[in-house]
Amino acid sequence: MNVHDSERLAGMLEEAGYTPAEGDAPPDVVVFNTCAVRENADNKLYGTLGHLAPAKSANPDMQIAVGGCLAQKDQGEIVNRAPWVDVVFGTHNIGSLPVLLERARHNREAQVEILDSLETFPSTLPARRDSAYSGWVSVSVGCNNTCTFCIVPSLRGKEKDRRPGEVLAEVRALVDEGVLEVTLLGQNVNSYGVEFGDRYAFGKLLRATGGIEGLERVRFTSPHPKDFTDDVIAAMAETPNVCHQLHMPLQSGSDRVLKAMRRSYRSGRYLAILEDVRRAMPDAAITTDIIVGFPGETEEDFQATLDVVREARFAGAFTFQYSKRPGTPAAELPDQLPKRVVQERYDRLVALQNELSWEQNKLQVGRTVEVLVSHGEGRKDAETHRLSGRARDGRLVHFAPGDAAVRPGDVVETAITYAAPHNLIADGGLISHRRTRAGDRSEAGIKPKTAGVTLGLPKFGAPEPLPAAVGGCSAG
Ligand code: SF4
Repeated sequence: MNVHDSERLAGMLEEAGYTPAEGDAPPDVVVFNTCAVRENADNKLYGTLGHLAPAKSANPDMQIAVGGCLAQKDQGEIVNRAPWVDVVFGTHNIGSLPVLLERARHNREAQVEILDSLETFPSTLPARRDSAYSGWVSVSVGCNNTCTFCIVPSLRGKEKDRRPGEVLAEVRALVDEGVLEVTLLGQNVNSYGVEFGDRYAFGKLLRATGGIEGLERVRFTSPHPKDFTDDVIAAMAETPNVCHQLHMPLQSGSDRVLKAMRRSYRSGRYLAILEDVRRAMPDAAITTDIIVGFPGETEEDFQATLDVVREARFAGAFTFQYSKRPGTPAAELPDQLPKRVVQERYDRLVALQNELSWEQNKLQVGRTVEVLVSHGEGRKDAETHRLSGRARDGRLVHFAPGDAAVRPGDVVETAITYAAPHNLIADGGLISHRRTRAGDRSEAGIKPKTAGVTLGLPKFGAPEPLPAAVGGCSAG
C-alpha cells in the first residue's frame, strides 16, 4: 500500500512540474513516505532526518516532506524533533503535498496538515508507476477490523471502497500502457463492497477483470479469512487470468490467541477455506503471515500454530516476532513474552516452514512454468547468467535464457530443474519466449503513467528553477 502511495506521490509531483533528481545531483525536494507497521520505523525516520540536517543547513531552499503512517501518528511531533522538516502530511491527504510544499516555500514556515478522514481516494491522483509490466490498483483503503496488534485502523481509518467501474477503468488504463499483470490492493479485499452494500462485490470484480483483453495475470492482496466467501474461490478458479495464488494471513493457529488478537475466525475455519481453495485449484500456491509471541502465547498455543502450519502446507510464510506498537490494545496487555522465548519459538517456526516450503517446491521439479520476467528479483543473476521472474502461482523462478534476448516484461516458458526452499531454478533452456509490449517498453525505459482527477483544486507547481539547482524530487 505504501509503495503504491509513493507511486502516487511521484506522479503528482511530476504533474506539478517536478522532475526526478539526476544521478548524484542534490535534490530540491526529498519526500519520505513512512510506514508504522514495522518495528523501529520511528528510529529509522528520525535517524535519517538527522543525517539530512547538514544538507538542509547548507541549502535552506531544499525542502523535506514527511508523509505516510508515521506522520499520521506523530503529527506535529515531527517538526518538534526535526525542525528542519518543511512539510508533514498524513495518510488521508497525500494529494495535498504539492500545495503544502508551495505554502511552506511561500510562508517560509513548516506546514503540518493531518486529516482525520480521507480527503480524496488516492487512486484519483496521478501515478508514476515503477514497473512497465506489473501494476498495483487499489480497491479499498482503510480497515473496519480491530486486530489488537495492528496500528493500521487508527492510521488509515475506516474502509473506503472504490466503485468497481473506477477500479476497472484504472486496470484498463494500465493494460493500455502495456501492463500484463495487476495486483488488486486492499487491507481486507474480502470485505470490498461493504460500503455500497454488495458482499459479493470482490468475486464479481475478479470475474470482470477476466474480460479485459491483454490482461494476463490478476493477483490480489490481502484477503481476510473472516470475510472469505465461496464465490471468490469460484471466481478465482473460473476466471482464466486470475492467478492461482493466495496470500491469506493466519497470524496464529491457536484459537485462544486468535480471540485475544480479535481475529474472529478460528483455525478450523481457516483450514476449511484452504481445503476449498485446493479442491477448486489443486495447483494453488498458498502463503501466509504469522506472528509469534503474541502477549500471553503459551507453548501449547505455539504448538497449535505449528500444527496448523503443518496441515496448511504453505508454499511460504512471512513470519514476524511480536513487538509492541504503541497505541495498539495488545501493547497494553500483561504477559508480554521475554525476547528469548519469542526468538526460540520463531526459530522453530522458521525451520519448520523452510522444510515445508522446500517440500512444496520440490513438487515443481520437472514441471513447465510460464514466467513473467521481472527486473531486480535475482540478486545473483549477473554471476549465474540467469534471469528471474514469477511463475503464475507467484513462485520466484531463476532461469537460464540461453542466447535469447529476453527482457523484463517478456513471457517465457521453461521447465524447473531444481528446487530451493525459497525459489526454483530452470537451467534447461527456454521452451518458448514471447516478446511483449511490456518488454519493449521496459527496454525503452518507459514507465506507465496513469492520470488522476485533480478535483478542481488550483494547480500548484515546482518553483522557478533556482540558479544553482539541478531540480527534482525524490519520493521513497
Ligand atoms: S485486518 Fe489487517 S489491516 Fe485490518 S486491523 Fe487486522 S491486521 Fe490490521
